[in-house]
Amino acid sequence: MAGEPQADCLFCKIVAGDVPATVVRETPTTVAFRDINPQAPSHVLVIPRVHYPDATSLATAEPQIAADILREAGEVAAQEKTEGTGYRVVFNTGTGAGQTVFHAHAHVLGGRGLNWPPG
Ligand code: 5GP
Repeated sequence: MAGEPQADCLFCKIVAGDVPATVVRETPTTVAFRDINPQAPSHVLVIPRVHYPDATSLATAEPQIAADILREAGEVAAQEKTEGTGYRVVFNTGTGAGQTVFHAHAHVLGGRGLNWPPG
């Protein structure tokens, strides 16, 4: 059923505590943890506890939780002290855009200057 944990989903396993992660913040609806392959000095993923395959399907079904993800992205950036460099929130959506884990997640990147446009 939509939103239910998926047995084959890596991020559902992190939410359940079955796969270890370096968690930096938690709320009733979200978990934030360090990316295993950081692309910036600070690179944190903010995910919903519920399973949706991407940010758009999450926002359609659970708009409040999508808003929680954005609020938490800002809280992570503040906690990571990115005020000098700013920070970027990225939702890769679809294989062609670089999405590799099909559980909605925001990348929160900071701690260095970030170029535009991205690759
Ligand atoms: P995507 O490519 O789907 O936008 O982002 C998935 C992210 O998950 C990647 O940046 C990747 O490094 C990260 N990732 C993949 N496997 C793991 C893992 O087991 N633990 C953590 N913490 N991050 C992971």
